[in-house]
Amino acid sequence: PDVVNKIAAGEIIVAPVHALKELIENSVDAGSTSLEVVVKEGGLKLLQITDNGHGIDKGDLPILCERFTTSKLKAFEDLTSIGTYGFRGEALASISHIAHLSVTTKTKDSNVAFKAHYGGGKLVPAKPGQSADPKPTAGRQGTQITVEDLFYNVPTRRRAFRSASEEYNKILDVVGRYAVHCDGVAFSCKKSGESSTTIATQSKSSTVDRIRQIYSSAVANELIEFTSSDDKYGYRARGWTTNANYHVRKTTLLLFINHRSVDSTNIRKAIEQTYSTFLPKGGHPFIYLSLEIEPSRVDVNVHPTKREVNFLNEDEIIEKICGDIRTKLANVDT
Ligand code: ADP
Ligand code: MG
Repeated sequence: PDVVNKIAAGEIIVAPVHALKELIENSVDAGSTSLEVVVKEGGLKLLQITDNGHGIDKGDLPILCERFTTSKLKAFEDLTSIGTYGFRGEALASISHIAHLSVTTKTKDSNVAFKAHYGGGKLVPAKPGQSADPKPTAGRQGTQITVEDLFYNVPTRRRAFRSASEEYNKILDVVGRYAVHCDGVAFSCKKSGESSTTIATQSKSSTVDRIRQIYSSAVANELIEFTSSDDKYGYRARGWTTNANYHVRKTTLLLFINHRSVDSTNIRKAIEQTYSTFLPKGGHPFIYLSLEIEPSRVDVNVHPTKREVNFLNEDEIIEKICGDIRTKLANVDT
């Protein structure tokens, strides 16, 4: 069974960025307003995320990395909505099968923080011979998750990574997306041992300021806000896009559906189509689109490396959103 778990984990988490995305989502779900990421060797040596969220109760630590351990089901009473959020209670479990995982956490009600180490889904001692029980330690409210030596026991996968900087760029891409999307959350991301951050946003900055900060090279020009909604189809959308007059080298789509960064080939195609009428010479837009859909209407291909999303009345919704964007673009002075 341990081999099976390891293989399953290696399919869920194919690259460091997939682990990090899960950790970011957990920190955001914990109500954090600050989220710091530290990376070594593209995340293969170290991925560390420190948040100031509600923390984890000491009593929950022993089962934290067991599969299907989740505190989030009660928040999703409607069982059909679970699909929206992808697989449940598998992220930490998976990571613990293919890396050395440690967790330091403190809740508001606890006087001390606790530190726990995990391997193969279970608590393990920090050093051989020691007790595996979580140990009290100093710490502030929130959670720090440390993932070391990812794929140490999956040598074929480990060897497949040629460039740490390539992996780091994927990590920056995901951190950047969440930094744009998450209102009121300060994000930072840096390489271990370096004092300067590659990404650093403030919790109070506006969406458009965060876009400009992170995508400065793509978005030098005007950004236009748009909204779109239709109760009949149970959706609300908002976002920002470049002026139709502006060309960037390739389409940059930051797509969030129900606050998860996902991909949708259909949305991507429709957006490119929409812009082709405004950019006949083949320009490409930057677009950040946050779409909220009634969870029961959404179907996620839960494979976390893909996160393709489909939803009911997809054609109608996409057409309405693109129509609203088109109207907005047509009214901009060019
Ligand atoms: P899921 O997010 O689907 O519940 P995970 O394996 O990602 O499953 O996490 C398991 C559980 O661990 C979460 O439900 C949550 O209770 C707890 N948890 C994980 N990360 C954090 C965090 N940063 N802050 C507080 N709780 C966390
Ligand atoms: Mg999670």
